Order: sequence, then structure tokens, then C-alpha cells
Amino acid sequence: MKKTSLSLVIAIVYFVVLSVGTARTDSPPNFIIIFTDDQGYGDLGCYGSPEIETPNIDRMAAEGMRFTSFYAAPFCGPSRASLMTGSYPPRLSLAFNHGPGAKTGIHADEITIAELLKSKGYRTQMIGKWHLGDHPSFLPHRNGFDDYLGLPYSNDMWPFHPKMPPRPGESDRMTAARNRAAYTGFAGQGSFYPPDGGFPEPLPLLHNDTVLETNPDQTRLTTRYTEKAVEFIGKYKDQPFFLYLAHAMPHVPLFVSEKFRGKSKRGLYGSVMMEIDWSVGEIMKKLKQEGIDEKTMVVFTSDNGPWLQYGIDGGSAGPLRGGKGSHWEGGMRVPGIFRWPGSIPAGSRTSAIAANMDLLPTLATLAGAALPSDRTLDGMDLSGLLESGRPSSKIEDRFFLYYGGSRRTGQPNLKAIRQGAWKLVLGRTEGSYKAIELYDLHRDISEAENRMDQYPEVTQRLLTTAIQYNADLAKEARPLGRLQL
Ligand code: MG
Repeated sequence: MKKTSLSLVIAIVYFVVLSVGTARTDSPPNFIIIFTDDQGYGDLGCYGSPEIETPNIDRMAAEGMRFTSFYAAPFCGPSRASLMTGSYPPRLSLAFNHGPGAKTGIHADEITIAELLKSKGYRTQMIGKWHLGDHPSFLPHRNGFDDYLGLPYSNDMWPFHPKMPPRPGESDRMTAARNRAAYTGFAGQGSFYPPDGGFPEPLPLLHNDTVLETNPDQTRLTTRYTEKAVEFIGKYKDQPFFLYLAHAMPHVPLFVSEKFRGKSKRGLYGSVMMEIDWSVGEIMKKLKQEGIDEKTMVVFTSDNGPWLQYGIDGGSAGPLRGGKGSHWEGGMRVPGIFRWPGSIPAGSRTSAIAANMDLLPTLATLAGAALPSDRTLDGMDLSGLLESGRPSSKIEDRFFLYYGGSRRTGQPNLKAIRQGAWKLVLGRTEGSYKAIELYDLHRDISEAENRMDQYPEVTQRLLTTAIQYNADLAKEARPLGRLQL
């Protein structure tokens, strides 16, 4: 009897040592981040879309972890700044969208996810929309990526923008795109749009410093990006790799390949989402074929909420209030799906607050890369939560700050703060901030009922924390990259 127990203990110890050893002595995992553009919280089957079918993304969620409170910045450029650097956009003075030919961009001293992973021997590839400055010195291959293929900014920053008059000799496809955009509505009156509307310069499809094409056929973009992603995985399957695939779609103007045209009851937007879902399926298939499924963590998320002003050509935030550009949940809460078979519990779901700025510390931890010690990062390491399915008390207690756009260094545009169920919306007052509205997001996901008068202590605690955190951030704001002219 004694002997049996001893053998059992030895067997258990051996098993534990073996499994821990296996997990930690293997080469670090591969990472794939799939980043969609202007896709809403409610545009996936697994997030409750009643019309858009996304079986591959739904399967990805069923085999991994789905976040229900995952955040981004409210629009394109700042969201990518957060993702790449693990910081709130104003911390790196990049809280606005860059237009073509901008004289500024991400600062050379910023440390991107790609740079951290490269220091650990990763092969790094970026495909798609960068939007952190399009001068060659700001592009991905100068910021840690071995190779880059994609559009340097948004796919509507081209001469066929609906605000521009038709061009002599333009193709029917371009005219149709312009007419469609004019019909569905136009919301781009931001300050980066030239006063006469539109962008006279052609939109380049880049391979590093080389312009492959101008004004590329956007009906082919999702497929081209996918083919490049699959090729990259096949080529670098034997070394740790990092692939950042930032789709142009479903940002307007919408384009879809022939194989998905007219296939969705949600119209062109739905068809575009079906093609993105197909793309996710192709990537998953390739990982399985190459036998690296359990060695690869795949993340799927969106850069901001849906561009509601485009009507039927924009996405849906589901039950959330507002859309792209706003500090309401619909502007900043996005789908967040993590899949890594054997390491992330399948079918798990968490309401813990997380954000795309958490990816840098999370991926660094999983890759064994040290975080920079000379700067403050706002993101938090999610690796424990991903592997155990349970948030630490540090994550449960975290505060998340909602930042709007701002062009001035050290002048962050704070809009709201959240901790747990509570979200406090802020307004400006002489030199500081004041509380305006308080929402209980667990009971009132649509931010309909202001509870500020009922919870003065919660209001005061959130207000004090927001002001303090924001003041510290403003003091430590790092500079934007500027061209030396
Ligand atoms: Mg966007």
C-alpha cells in the first residue's frame, strides 16, 4: 500500500516536472495579430451579430478565450500607436490620424512589439495598414519589422474619395466606389482632410520602400494580404515568428473579391466581413497543416468601433452606445479573441478589462523579452489570465482611461475612466476635469442611465484617480517623431 502511494507520488512529481519543463523549455510561441479596421463590437457571430456569418472566427473563439470588455482607441492611428507600444496614445503624443505626406510619425525611440520580439530572435512581418506616419523613416521596416507589405494609411485616403470630383478617364470601378460612398454618407470632415476634400495623391501599395502599385484594386486586397500571410507562415514555421496582419477592410470604401460579392444578407459590409472570416480560416488551416497550431497564439481584434455615419456601409456596435470616434463603449470596446490550443483554455470567456495596449507586455512575457525599464507603459501582462482563465486581482482592480484625439504633446484629451462595472464620463473645467455621468456597465451596457447622484463615493474615487493618472501621463509624455527638415 505504502509502495503504491510512493509510486503514485513519484509519478505525479515526474508528470508535473515534465509538463512544466515542456511548457517552459520549448521555443517561445509564434504570434499572429489580426487587426480589422472600423469593425464593430457587434459584427461577428460570436459577439451576437444577427446577420453576419463568421464561422471561422466563431470557431477561433470556441477554441480559445473571448473578451467581452476589450478596448482600443476611438480611431485608427492612435489605436495602432497603442497596440505597437503598449501605451495610451497621448503618452507617445500620437493621439491623432496622420494623413498622406505627414511630416510626423512614430518616434524612432519608441519600442514596438516587433522590436522587442526581434531582440528574441523572432522573424517579424507586417502586412496591411500601418498609419503611424508614411515617410519612409516612420514605416514598419524601420520599426522592428523585417518586411512590410501594405497601405501606409487608410484606404479612403486616395483620389477616389467621395469628396473629390470625378477624374477624367477614371474607371467604372472607381466611379462606382465614389457614387456608393456619396450615397451612403460621408463623415470625414476631420481636420486632416484638405479643405477642398479628398486626397490628390495616389494611394501606394508598398513593399518596404518600393511602391508596387498606386491605387491598387482594392477588391483584391484581403485576398492578397491573406496569401502573403499564408506564405510567410510556411516560410518561417521553424523559427519563432510574429505576424501583424492589419486588414484595410471593413473601412470604407468597401471592396470585396468576386468570390464573396453578394453573398451576405447584410449587404456589401457583410460580404466584406465574410471575406475577412475566410482569411482567418485560411490562416488557421495553414497553422494546422504545418503542425504549429499549439505553438502559435492568434489574436483577433479591431482598431476601433464602427463608422456609423456611413450607414449600411458601416458596422454595428451591437448593444453598445456610439461608434468610431466617440468615447462611448461603441467607439472603443471591440471584439478581442485569443486562441492558443493547449495553453489558453478552450471556450473560455472573460469580462476582465483588457486592451490592445496589453499585447506588448503580454507577448514580451510569453517570449521571455524584458520590458523597457526607462519608460512607463500603460498596458498590463495578460499571460496569466490567458493561461489560467482567471484574472489576477491586479487586473480585476485596474483602471482604464478613455482618451480622445489630441495633437498637442502633453495635452491628453481625457474623456472617461472605468474600473470594474463603473464608468465615469468626464468634462473639462478650468484647468482640470469634472465628473459628468456615471454608468454601471454590468447592468447598463448601453450607457443609458446616469447614476452619478446615487454613487457619490464611486464618482469621487474615479475622478481623483483619473486626474492623477492623467497628470502623471502628461508630465511623462514622450515626443512624436518629426522629420529633420
Ligand atoms: Mg479604424
